[in-house]
Amino acid sequence: MPGATSFYRCAGPNCGILRQQNDRWWLMWTSFAEFNQPVLYLTPWNDEIAQNEGTLHVCGELCVQRLQSQFMGNIRAAQLRRSTA
Ligand SMILES: [Zn+2]
Repeated sequence: MPGATSFYRCAGPNCGILRQQNDRWWLMWTSFAEFNQPVLYLTPWNDEIAQNEGTLHVCGELCVQRLQSQFMGNIRAAQLRRSTA
């Protein structure tokens, strides 16, 4: 179904803009599997990867930085919870 997958919203906090054709967006995702701890992946837009489950679609550098900050904050918070448990 052409076009059905072409609506992407930025995953950045308080952003959510729609991707236009030819926008130079970024893709981010996290994975635990490869190194047995959380890893954050960042790569330039790729139509195939964009359709993968769990992939975040990101409009630009600022939103990438916000999501990276969230990722790091979540890990620190989890570490704190563990160390005070
Ligand atoms: Zn954005």
